[in-house]
Formats: sequence, C-alpha cells, structure tokens
Amino acid sequence: MKIGFIGLGNMGAPMASNLAAAGHEVTGFDIANTPPDGVVAAKSVTDAATDMDVVITMLPNGAILRSVADDVIPAMKQGATLLDCSTVDVDSARAVADKAQAAGLNAVDAPVSGGIGGAAAGTLTFMAGGSEEGFVAVSPLFDIMGQKAVHCGPSGNGQAAKICNNMILGVTMIGTCEAFALADKLGLDRQKMFDVVSTSSGYSWVMNAYCPAPGVGPQSPADNDYKPGFAAELMLKDLRLSQQAAESSDADTPMGARATELYTQFVEEEDGAGQDFSAMLPRFVSRRRG
Ligand code: NAD
Repeated sequence: MKIGFIGLGNMGAPMASNLAAAGHEVTGFDIANTPPDGVVAAKSVTDAATDMDVVITMLPNGAILRSVADDVIPAMKQGATLLDCSTVDVDSARAVADKAQAAGLNAVDAPVSGGIGGAAAGTLTFMAGGSEEGFVAVSPLFDIMGQKAVHCGPSGNGQAAKICNNMILGVTMIGTCEAFALADKLGLDRQKMFDVVSTSSGYSWVMNAYCPAPGVGPQSPADNDYKPGFAAELMLKDLRLSQQAAESSDADTPMGARATELYTQFVEEEDGAGQDFSAMLPRFVSRRRG
C-alpha cells in the first residue's frame, strides 16, 4: 500500500519503520523529526496525504489531530482510509471521523497499548473504532505493527476502550502502591506481600506483571530507578481524557477522579514528572496519613 505517516515521534517512527520494512511504500512527515530509515520524507502534511491508500496519524493530542486532519482530509483520494493511532479524547476522534466520512473517506480511530517497546517490536495491541470496511482495509497494517486488533464498534469506540482500560490501570496502580506502603508500616515483608497478593484476589497486571516494588516480582521500571516505562505524565494525560469523557457522557467515576487528582499532584507539585507511573510507591512511602 501507499501509506502516509504523520507524527514520527517515539511511537510513530518505529511503527512507520516496521511498515516500510514489510514492503509498504511509506512517506512520512513530522514538524520536528526526520523520518527513520526506509521512510521517504514528505515536504508537508498535504504531501504525506496526497494519493495515499492509508494516512496514519500518531500525534500528541486531540487539538493537534483536529488541525492536522483539516489539512489531510481534503488532500486524500476518495475511498482512502484515515487511521488515527494517537490517544485523544473521544469527541475529537468522532469529529475527525465525521469530517473524513463526509469527504468520502474511511476513518478508523485505533489507539494502542504496548508502549515504545511494543512499537519497536511490532507487538502493539490496537483498539479500533469505525466502520467494518475501514477496519478490514487497515487490518493488514495492524498485523505488521501489532499482535492484536479488536474492533470495538463505531468511531470513537477505540478511544473509549483505551481510556477505560487506562483509568483501571491508574486506579489499580494507586491501590497497589498504597497497599505496599501500608504493608511496610505494618512490618509485612514486600516479597511476602507479593507472594500472597499475586496469587490471591488482589492480583492484577500491575502487581503480577509490572510490580511497583523494586526487587520483587518480574523486572519492571521499579528495578530501573523508576525510569519510564510509562511516564507519570502520560498516565495523567489518559486519566484526564477519562474524566473529560465521563463529564461529557454524564458517567460517575469517583475513583478515576481521585486517581486524576493524585497523578496531577504527583506530576505538577511533586517529583513525578519524568518518572515511571509506578513511582507512586516511593511517594506513598514518604508520606504520612492525612
Ligand atoms: P511524541 O511526542 O514522541 O510524538 C509525537 C510527534 O508528533 C512528535 O514527533 C511531534 O513533532 C509530532 N507532531 C506534533 N505536531 C505535529 C504536526 N502538526 N504535524 C506533524 N507532526 C507533528 O509522542 P509519542 O510517545 O510518540 O506518542 C504519540 C501518541 O501515542 C500520543 O497520543 C500518546 O498518548 C500515544 N501513546 C504513547 C505511548 C508511549 O508509551 N509513548 C503509549 C501508548 C500511546
């Protein structure tokens, strides 16, 4: 396929590179970064969209996606597919999809899980929203960039799945970290805590696969001085998106709201920025009740 790839950052560059390595003709554009090996440099956003079968965007947020889409959509050929893999708010995803469809294009929102490691290894999980036709058109690309793609329903549902998943992740990380800090104060050894919880009803992906306590459980960012991994500020971005979605859909999410407050405090007022989101554990350990 002829693919335009817009947004060649930490995630986009390795994703574009994998598509090129698999034999697709990939043309890339980024306002700050040059394309990786195998990807042809476009002169502009429009240049990266003209005549392409699929245009992929991997951008920081919904406002940037909306503005890039305004340039991309008129340049794309009829019947082509606009595939946004960024994590953005549901309303922006739906607004961009509506514009694309009105212009005779397919639109798919397909945010990813798996991080920079998954992007490089081609093992991302895609959660997709959009028409069946659009999903089928880009499925061969999901197979190259990832290991699993779930079609979650109409436009915006990919973003909905992503922020619901990450709201659970943020809440679970906080719950697991505060429980470890309580265990410390009660004189319970962290390894014993892990041995019990990881095989009891408190188990979770956070505890079992990404344990926030150094030296306990599998290798995780905690064993690397809390270098990300998944940075606290990215967790905060996704929690804020969950609260924006909760507000616009009138959903009651008190735990998501509290997790958003705690990550805001951690990132903006404490030393959380630049640390992995599991660095909530030393934060709780250093604090007292109240
Ligand atoms: P990044 O900041 O490294 O990359 C974004 C790129 O977009 C940058 O290179 C930037 O120069 C470019 N860009 C910004 N405005 C542009 C414009 N108008 N035209 C062209 N390019 C433009 O971010 P990232 O880590 O690659 O993340 C991209 C998206 O993926 C985000 O929405 C993020 O939430 C999501 N995501 C990231 C991770 C992760 O672990 N990094 C995991 C899952 C999802």
